[in-house]
Amino acid sequence: MIRENLQVVQKNIKAACARSGRSETSVKLIAVSKTKPVAMLWEAYEAGCRDFGENKVQELIEKYEQMPKDIRWHMIGHLQRNKVKYIVDKVWLIHSVDSLRLAEEISKEAVRKNVKVSILVEVNVAGEESKFGVTTQDAVSLVEEIAKLPNIVIKGLMTIAPYVENSEENRLYFAKLMQIYVDIIHKNIDNVFMEELSMGMTGDYEVAIEEGATYVRVGTGIFGERQYLNV
Ligand SMILES: *Cc1c(COP(=O)(O)O)cnc(C)c1O
Repeated sequence: MIRENLQVVQKNIKAACARSGRSETSVKLIAVSKTKPVAMLWEAYEAGCRDFGENKVQELIEKYEQMPKDIRWHMIGHLQRNKVKYIVDKVWLIHSVDSLRLAEEISKEAVRKNVKVSILVEVNVAGEESKFGVTTQDAVSLVEEIAKLPNIVIKGLMTIAPYVENSEENRLYFAKLMQIYVDIIHKNIDNVFMEELSMGMTGDYEVAIEEGATYVRVGTGIFGERQYLNV
């Protein structure tokens, strides 16, 4: 089941790349495995997945310990400052940095553990009140401030688009994130390497690719619907 789902997603990624004149290798698929048991992660691993996304620190660490060490773990959920210390040396990329205070904590722990931590700045492009992320107006100045911190490397931007029935409705938000990304590139800020745009989920990753995504984060499309117990 997971293997077949992955094949479908990969085929769709390939088609979206072809439609937009992009090379297939310019888009990386993150298998968002939050709430799913390790057995399912193994299935995805055996089908070739090496990038996994989690949104809770505790769950990420538990899975990190049980899974092979060649996996690239992506922290995609809201991160509390008091939990930063548990993951700085375990994650490949933190997608959800949206404040200077959080970035300072990441930097401090990275210095202490003598590692460099790659991050994306999360932007709330649609201005949804329920979502985390810096506003579009403050994104560039936040990048400039974070860039001054030691042992933290800004690799790009991330957004979580609104939940919509028709993925076309999110196209303008993906285009907006791309525009901010290009603005930042033109500023040539030291210690900022704009290489990644993390945007697009199960419902809208094809549109996100057409608008320039380099990382798409797909959960349901690979692992099936999530069941949240005890809520
Ligand atoms: C859960 C989640 C996803 C994956 O969502 P699906 O709709 O299941 O693909 C992607 N990004 C973030 C930040 C998430 O929390």
